[in-house]
Amino acid sequence: MALMTSQEYVESLRKMNRRIYFQGKLIEDPIEDPMLAPSRHCLEETYDMALDPQFEDLMTATSQFTGEKINRFNNIHRDTEDLIKKVKLQRLMGQRTAGCFQRCVIMDMANAFYSTCYEIDEAHGTDYFERFKEYIIKCQREDLIVAGALTDPKGSRAYPIGSDQQDEDLYLHVVERREDGVVVRGAKAHITGATNAHEIVALPTQALKPGQEDYAIAFHMPLDAEGITMIVGRQSCDTRKYEEDADIDVGNRTYGGVEALTVFDNVFVPNENIFLNGETEFAGMLVERFAGYHRNSYGGCKTGVGDVAIGAASLLAQYNGTEKASHIKDKLTEMTQLNEQLFACGIASSALGAPTKAGNYMVDLLVANVCKLNVTRYPYEIVRLMEDIAGGIMVTAPSEADLKSDAVGAYVRKYLVGQDVDAENRLRALRLCENIALGTAAVGYRTESMHGAGSPEAQKIMIRRMGGFDVKKDLAKRIAHIVD
Ligand code: SF4
Ligand code: FE
Repeated sequence: MALMTSQEYVESLRKMNRRIYFQGKLIEDPIEDPMLAPSRHCLEETYDMALDPQFEDLMTATSQFTGEKINRFNNIHRDTEDLIKKVKLQRLMGQRTAGCFQRCVIMDMANAFYSTCYEIDEAHGTDYFERFKEYIIKCQREDLIVAGALTDPKGSRAYPIGSDQQDEDLYLHVVERREDGVVVRGAKAHITGATNAHEIVALPTQALKPGQEDYAIAFHMPLDAEGITMIVGRQSCDTRKYEEDADIDVGNRTYGGVEALTVFDNVFVPNENIFLNGETEFAGMLVERFAGYHRNSYGGCKTGVGDVAIGAASLLAQYNGTEKASHIKDKLTEMTQLNEQLFACGIASSALGAPTKAGNYMVDLLVANVCKLNVTRYPYEIVRLMEDIAGGIMVTAPSEADLKSDAVGAYVRKYLVGQDVDAENRLRALRLCENIALGTAAVGYRTESMHGAGSPEAQKIMIRRMGGFDVKKDLAKRIAHIVD
């Protein structure tokens, strides 16, 4: 059963006993709760599309370990073609969901672990590589969704990890070592898709130094393990999903990502689940490789959502009767140029990928970081242009309840019409724009473009480090005939 159906996926979640809180209350039925359903629908798409022949080439791959057809989100990349298909798949999924579809984290993390575990074993004689390989084969065979947990809450960034000036639990760490495993305590912030995943993989948040061994811990655990609690992140306009017959006002009633503060309160991790345990010098490599893959991913997923934003803006230009105005055409052209630049950078960082010592392929880190740094800017400009085209009615339009009201519905239907379009369809397009710019999808498009896969300064540090300034100085000296 290497490919599950979406029904089997939902049934597998139903069997889990997870602790998920929203607004201070335990979510009694995580499958049916309207707050979590859009996240689940995105993940269901990843199953349905893998079984649809028209998407097979991008959505599936053949496992090099078992020879079975697997979901590409659990693939270990064998060549640059795999890396290119990954970005194309992410654009496709962004177009389908107009939000964060959440399943890429394990693809990016698994490839980082695969190569890093190999190098840890080389240096330390450990057996993490075989252990990780077995784990990813299990994920492929059982078609599991695995959330990835990187970011620690950190508290004050002025204090180093393990400082006794603040609560040491602000960084996930080992609090007890036993013969058969370790006990960990701490939390991981804004964990994408955790509320609808089977398992979670945790890793250190940053490079570590000797003396910080207890923080150099990476492992996998089922998300219903004893001691794990998820607290769902608040999103703008999120409780519209709880309104009766919630539809138009939600903007995107089917899909959307969900993040959770994920707490590990004295969780026992058995030895066989551990992929890093005290090898501090490899924490940085693991983080850097994961971040590199994920920064490349943003050239795909954000471009897909950008396509929907451009589509919504074009539709509103048509509905507003402004489609033929030259400044509108110019704005739509600029949105497209910016969006395709992001995609080009994602594809380029894939095409320039190279094999690691373990044999899987790594993206070009410099270009992947440039890709993500562009993502911290262009979606903001795309949204600005979308809002410009949509008009102020995007944020002042009456509600769906008013549209359907006996008292004022006739007014809304009379005064909200556009060019050859009734008030309802115009409102639907406006609410979609609102959702992408300011609503629940803004988490996955606007602000995630800034901070997801690392904030802009993290990319600048990598770009500075990999910019090759000395090599470029030599190029200049040769042309200018400078002899030192
Ligand atoms: Fe995938 Fe993009 Fe969401 Fe990351 S932000 S999980 S790459 S959709
Ligand atoms: Fe993300």
